[in-house]
Amino acid sequence: MRVVVCTGDSTFSCMIVVVGAGPGGLAAGLALGRAGFEVEVWERAPALRTAGAGLTLQGNAMRMLDALGVAEAVRAAGAELTSGAIVDDAGAVVNRLPLGRFAALWGQPGVGIHRGTLARILSEALGPERVRFGRTVTGLSGGCLLTDDGVRHEADLVVGADGIHSVVRTSLFGPRPLRYAGYTCWRGVAHRQLRPGTLEERWGPGLRLGTVPIGGDRVYWFAVADAPPEGVDPEDRMAALRARFAVFEEAHDLFEATPADTVIRNDIVDFAPLDRWSEGRVTLLGDAAHAMTPNLGQGACQAIEDAVVLAASLEAHGLEEGPRVYEAKRRPRANALVHRSRRFGAMAQLRSGWLRTLRNVALRGLSPEWLMVRSMDALYGVAVPRLSGGGDPSPAPIAR
Ligand SMILES: Cc1cc2nc3c(=O)[nH]c(=O)nc-3n(C[C@H](O)[C@H](O)[C@H](O)COP(=O)(O)OP(=O)(O)OC[C@H]3O[C@@H](n4cnc5c(N)ncnc54)[C@H](O)[C@@H]3O)c2cc1C
Repeated sequence: MRVVVCTGDSTFSCMIVVVGAGPGGLAAGLALGRAGFEVEVWERAPALRTAGAGLTLQGNAMRMLDALGVAEAVRAAGAELTSGAIVDDAGAVVNRLPLGRFAALWGQPGVGIHRGTLARILSEALGPERVRFGRTVTGLSGGCLLTDDGVRHEADLVVGADGIHSVVRTSLFGPRPLRYAGYTCWRGVAHRQLRPGTLEERWGPGLRLGTVPIGGDRVYWFAVADAPPEGVDPEDRMAALRARFAVFEEAHDLFEATPADTVIRNDIVDFAPLDRWSEGRVTLLGDAAHAMTPNLGQGACQAIEDAVVLAASLEAHGLEEGPRVYEAKRRPRANALVHRSRRFGAMAQLRSGWLRTLRNVALRGLSPEWLMVRSMDALYGVAVPRLSGGGDPSPAPIAR
């Protein structure tokens, strides 16, 4: 089985085409390669994205990355997260996350890492020759993949990992309206050491400031504020950010230590969960399938779970049945997280004083470690499939 160029010059062949080299697409390419499939990842950007901000990879994603043989490299290049806390704008702890305990229970720590570093690790493990840059997919037609150079390509299986605005998804199921969550996020990376190994979120009225160490002396920060959609920063964006987030003690210093032109601004959006991800030999993965608000820090983690489950399903059930098995295993979990993440965001962004007080009391009540462990089990205790093809390393057993 191979990719056949339907018209134009036939210059290559492969079995599976993954569209998009984000964390999901790169992990899918790696997992499919480890499972013994021929695979190429097609990316519209001219080169691997090395810019951008940071990311938290939680224990569930790290366990999947372990199955792909790259968890150690990710841990070494990022920062292991040993504790976490949510604090209010007066600095009082609302909730503590015993991340070190979670790591001991489920076998892998959460890691803060720069997105560019993660992309480099995944691409090197996949084999850079398997990623084709500057290749933009414009749609699907009559079983063929169309690219912007006017060529029609036929693949044995297409995996749409092309993000929230997925062309592959739109070709399969039509346009999907995005839902603005009501808040905007700014992200940056500062050369600062806060508390090592500690992930922190500070919650104010309609405002949040999060910090995550990502290795070396760098900290990734995200600042979230209720705002109308499609806003534009003023010329002195850092002064505006300092003023907007002045309620948080750390904000001034963090923003001072971040070059203004590296700050990324996004309206936070998702879309209503899909009831299908696959059609024939085309399936979706990552944000293309289940874009979620980032409140739980699970978007890329779920994309990585998709990647491993897809490869294992194709390996066990073949290219006809495999996509449906993959979808049945993954869709309920990912879709539930879309809802959960949106609810969590609404709770975190509360503005009313008395509602915030009620929320904080409730969250403090959820703090006993045994209760947290129980509530995290469904998330971190996910089954990690084994990939046997191509001499794939077996996943480490869970220490429980
Ligand atoms: C503010 C914020 C903070 C976040 N924090 C976290 C976090 O801490 N932890 C976490 O797990 N997740 C986090 N996420 C979510 C995470 O960023 C996404 O879930 C993740 O990037 C999805 O990966 P993906 O590979 O599916 O899609 P993407 O990362 O969107 O990658 C899609 C790729 O496809 C390419 N592409 C698009 N269209 C085409 C085309 N037509 N042809 C060829 N290539 C194409 C794009 O160039 C891109 O490289 C956060 C998101 C936001 C907005």
